[in-house]
Amino acid sequence: AVSIRGLNKWYGAFQVLRDINLDVATGEKIILCGPSGSGKSTLIRCINRLEIFQAGSLTVDGIKLTDDLKRIDDVRREVGMVFQHFNLFPHLTILENCTLAPIHVRKLPKEQAVETAMHFLKRVRIPEQADKYPGQLSGGQQQRVAIARALCMNPKIMLFDEPTSALDPEMVQEVLETMVELAREGMTMLCVTHEMGFARQVADRVVFMDRGEILEIAAPQAFFAAPQHPRTQLFLGQIL
Ligand code: ATP
Ligand code: MG
Repeated sequence: AVSIRGLNKWYGAFQVLRDINLDVATGEKIILCGPSGSGKSTLIRCINRLEIFQAGSLTVDGIKLTDDLKRIDDVRREVGMVFQHFNLFPHLTILENCTLAPIHVRKLPKEQAVETAMHFLKRVRIPEQADKYPGQLSGGQQQRVAIARALCMNPKIMLFDEPTSALDPEMVQEVLETMVELAREGMTMLCVTHEMGFARQVADRVVFMDRGEILEIAAPQAFFAAPQHPRTQLFLGQIL
């Protein structure tokens, strides 16, 4: 689904991504972890072109990401993204948040967009909140709306950037449960998270990044039981 080859990115003189090579197969679940500032957000933001990069190639669903803006829109249509801070439109209701892109980008008739939105709001278990505004919902509920909103576009892959790290502890589980269900249904997922229980439960592979480099890629069992790189060992020692 995603193929990243020799990806390099700089902010001015500072190199934020160093020679990143990574493939995400269809249906695969990859957990990306690493210390703060290691480049995790930058890497996943490159995948739907929220960030530009200077060298390397990135293919999403067979579409090579170049500066061709039309194709970038094609890619964004297929890639769902869920952020740490929900990023819902505060002046739109939950239902409107979920129907906006399907109506305006996918050109779905309104009735059909509403039907799809209600389907996914039921799946994340908050159909009764459809007419409220984001500010009236808890953090966990808002994040589940953000997941439902992304799913309404029928994405081929879902990118998550620390979706639970801004939540109060009691709300983390409800969002993780939604993500586990999504994983079980076969969604292709690339997820930045430090929820290692979740990683053990759903990951096909865990990727460890430090200082802009991928230092280690392993199946979760091996990754947690016997990390190879000293910096992975240090990192796991700090968070587990
Ligand atoms: P965290 O775990 O804290 O979210 P991260 O692994 O997601 O960290 P990034 O946000 O990708 O890290 O940032 C990687 C590095 O790039 C950091 O050193 C950061 O300061 C730097 N950086 C990020 N955005 C910019 C920018 N717009 N301009 C300059 N430097 C940036
Ligand atoms: Mg980040």
